[in-house]
Amino acid sequence: MVHQIVCEDAGMDCSFVVKSESDDELVEMAKRHGERRHGVEMDENDVRDLIKPA
Ligand SMILES: [Zn+2]
Repeated sequence: MVHQIVCEDAGMDCSFVVKSESDDELVEMAKRHGERRHGVEMDENDVRDLIKPA
């Protein structure tokens, strides 16, 4: 099942969306995006809370 993380759900004014069947990959990509684009280091548990069905 494909899940997604929407950056806007983290309170960012940002249209970044990442989709994957692997939750670990989702978390990895979302964390990398947060650091590179927003300079925010997100807690892994917080990132997992943002995962929802695509
Ligand atoms: Zn973003």
